Parts: sequence; structure tokens; C-alpha cells
Amino acid sequence: MGCGATGSALASLLARSGVGTIRIIDRDYVEASNLQRQTLFDEADASESLPKPIAAARKIAAFNSQIVVEPQVADLTPTNIDSLLAGGMLILDGTDNFEARYLINDYAVKNAVPWIYTGAVGSYGVTVNIMPGRTACLACIFPEAPGGALETCDTAGILNSAVNLAASIAATEALKLLVGAESQLRRTLLCFDLWRNERSEISAAKPRPDCRTCGAREFPHLAGEGRPHITLCGRNSVQIHERHRPVDLAQMSERLKIHGTVKHNEFVLKFWHDRYEMTLFPDGRAIIKGTSDTAVARSLYARYIGN
Ligand SMILES: [Zn+2]
Repeated sequence: MGCGATGSALASLLARSGVGTIRIIDRDYVEASNLQRQTLFDEADASESLPKPIAAARKIAAFNSQIVVEPQVADLTPTNIDSLLAGGMLILDGTDNFEARYLINDYAVKNAVPWIYTGAVGSYGVTVNIMPGRTACLACIFPEAPGGALETCDTAGILNSAVNLAASIAATEALKLLVGAESQLRRTLLCFDLWRNERSEISAAKPRPDCRTCGAREFPHLAGEGRPHITLCGRNSVQIHERHRPVDLAQMSERLKIHGTVKHNEFVLKFWHDRYEMTLFPDGRAIIKGTSDTAVARSLYARYIGN
């Protein structure tokens, strides 16, 4: 789930190891600024603005054509999580936000699917294996999402070696899980800071008896309504998540070209107008750059794409 820096490294390591079927889910497209850390992508992907799952599937097919890759260009929401994650033996976290992680945790605990939390920012990395019912879940460890202004890759930068180390550890744990080497699995939350040479671990071996999620089996994140507008972290951009409003990108391209510069391929349309850049996906979802004001983004969308 998620194919940025962590997801790229995880997908690459597992695909090269021969993991037979990998579903890659991401809502975003490749940009040149990603290339410092997102090791599955290159400048050609960025210039085509390819959706990350599509670009990842192409790269993997080029080095291991025998495995099945299922790219899914989608934003994970409470509404679509069941269909997006259906049938998976193991969920790997390549997301960059706690909203998505708590949603994955609710799904994983409810359906008894193991998952591996992995995060990295700056020179810091963290990972923990979560086996519902047997180990602590994310909500056992962090009952609430960390508060305050969180550092993100966009505000703090990221050392590509930190993300690759976190992903290497998580990919190794994934292989242990997939081959049934359960006694070898790590049962701690591991944190490290490569720049400061620091490392710490806390036990995650047992579920917390009073955990709301794995103890009381309350799943508030799964029950939540998907928010229609999401401000993406630190990128001066807003995502408009329409409720399935399929768009013909070629037709839309014709319609928009009198208002600005447009280009499109079969996966994505890009439209530049004033200081805004809009990226539109075939399901009607859009990412609008140049503002972090959801009202401005909403009105641009209504004006050019439709109400
Ligand atoms: Zn729990």
C-alpha cells in the first residue's frame, strides 16, 4: 500500500526475490522531485507523469516477467479498502501518513491479515511487524496518532539510505512471514537514526489488553466516511476525491485546451492554468497544485472539470 520511497524499495526487493503476486496501490504520479529516493522510477516516468503503480509494474516486468503485478491507481479510503486489499496474505505499508495506517490497522485486525508498518523521514526510520491477535497492533503501540506538526519528506527531506534500510528490514520480515518462518520474526518496534547513530527498540510482542482496536474490536477508521477533499502533506496541493465520476481524458483534453496548456496519456491528464497545475485521473480524482486551500481547489475543479 503506497509506492513512494518505501513502497518502491519494498516492491523491488520482493519482486526480485520472486514473490509471485504483488498488488501495488498508490494515488500519485511520478515527479522529478521523487527520483532522489523512489528507486523504481526514472526521468522518463516523471516526464510522462505516469501513475506510480503503472510505472512500478513496468519496471518490475522488465526485471522479472514471471511474477504477477496488479497495479491499482487509487486513493485508499474506508469505502474501497475491502476491494483494494481483498485476497492479500500480507500488507506492506508504503504510505506516508497515519490516517492511512490506522485504516490499514483496522482492516488488518478485523480480517486477521498481518501487516508491516514502515516509516522513514529525515535520517530516521521505524518498522514493526503486526500479526493481529498475536502481537501488538498499531493502536496498542500508538492509541492516538502522534499530534502536532509532523515532519514529512517534503518538509524535512529524507536520506535515501534511511528509507532503504527501513524497507530492507521490512522486506526481510515479509519474506519470513511468507515462508512461514514465524519463530524468526522480530517482535519489537525498531527505530533508528542513521545520521545520529542511534537505535532503539520497544517490545511489541503482546497485544495490549485494553486496546480499542484488537481488544474491543472497534474499527472507527473503517467506519469513517472517506473525506472528499484531502490536503496533501507539505506539497502545496489538494486532492479532490470525487465519488466515481469517470472522465474521458481525450475529450476533457479537447475541452480544456482553450483555457491553458493540456497534455494527457491513457492514465493521466495534466492541465496548467495560471499558477495552478491540475492532474486528473480517469476515475475523476484530481490533484491540484499551487494551493493548499480546499475551497480554491474545489472551485477550480468545479469550473474546469464539472460540478
Ligand atoms: Zn491493539
